[in-house]
Amino acid sequence: MWRYEHPTEILFGQGVSQNLGDYLERKNIKKALLIATNSLVKNGLTADIVDKSAGRIVGVVNGIEPNPTIENVEMCASQARELEVDYIIALGGGSVIDCAKAVCAVVAENYTAIDLMEGQDITKALPLIAIPTVSGASSEVTGTAVISWKEKNLKRAFTSPLLYPKTAFVDPELTYSCPNHLTAISGIDIIAHSLDSLGSVKSNPLTEHFAVQAAKLAFENLEAAVNDNIEAKDQLAFAAILAGFAFSQTGTTASHACSYILTAKYDIPHAEACAFTLDSWFKINAEYKPLLETHAKNIGYKNVDELVKELNGLKTKLGLRTTLEKLEIPIEDLDIIVQHSLEAANMKNNIAPVDEEMVRKVFLSK
Ligand SMILES: [Zn+2]
Repeated sequence: MWRYEHPTEILFGQGVSQNLGDYLERKNIKKALLIATNSLVKNGLTADIVDKSAGRIVGVVNGIEPNPTIENVEMCASQARELEVDYIIALGGGSVIDCAKAVCAVVAENYTAIDLMEGQDITKALPLIAIPTVSGASSEVTGTAVISWKEKNLKRAFTSPLLYPKTAFVDPELTYSCPNHLTAISGIDIIAHSLDSLGSVKSNPLTEHFAVQAAKLAFENLEAAVNDNIEAKDQLAFAAILAGFAFSQTGTTASHACSYILTAKYDIPHAEACAFTLDSWFKINAEYKPLLETHAKNIGYKNVDELVKELNGLKTKLGLRTTLEKLEIPIEDLDIIVQHSLEAANMKNNIAPVDEEMVRKVFLSK
């Protein structure tokens, strides 16, 4: 028996974000706060979106960090309260959309960001419109937000059906001007989410279908997208939705569990940190779940070994660092890294049971 539920309305297509004004009018949204990334402020996209809203966007906040913090959430929440908004719109990458999700909960519940970090229940949230400008995190179609509490060296993922965006405007045109290195590093996250989802104890035939299609599209199009091929960028935007359909249900697994400490302690970008161990975990999981051999074939490879080889080749081509030495991580830190990886909640989601020895071996193989 399995169950699948996904509440987000998706509007997909080149130029679809042009319809935002009509959407706000149709839904009778009177006061929305726009949370947008800084680079978009510079290139005028934010101003364009505000113009289209015909006065319905009453405030704009930016300055969200790559790993959004409780301070970022507080800053946006205080704006939202002051302006008494009834909707939040997020325009940007996964960090901005994640921050906006936390704001939706904090404002509706009248919480502080710390209340949320300390585990207060989410029973209500303001509605959110997500407009991604880079393909990869899939936050536009998931009910999860990851927020950092720097002072405590803490990163927490919140998941709630109430955190799914009400509507996602997925306009591939918005990704065309994304810098190439960002396209590369975000795109590899699509593969990490798909393979992690296939190795989850919660996967089911429907999530597996989505994950296989997402991985296939990402493998086929990532390099071309990084080289500015427009059709490939369109395919990546679609692949990100498919990956989100998979891991929004299954959660992520070992590669993500091993990534958090790499990001928190060594500032390694999220997807690069996930990709670092992804190949090893997919192999380990395939030994435990032979069905992954079939999935590897459906993704477009002869077997798991060939998929892993291609993945490692792709990592190198995209300029991702693939050894501890290149990441400048001293071998003496391994104990802490192994401990943190094991303690991450999503490690329990991994289909192959994981122990200390196994994590150590994976890192030592790098
Ligand atoms: Zn990820």
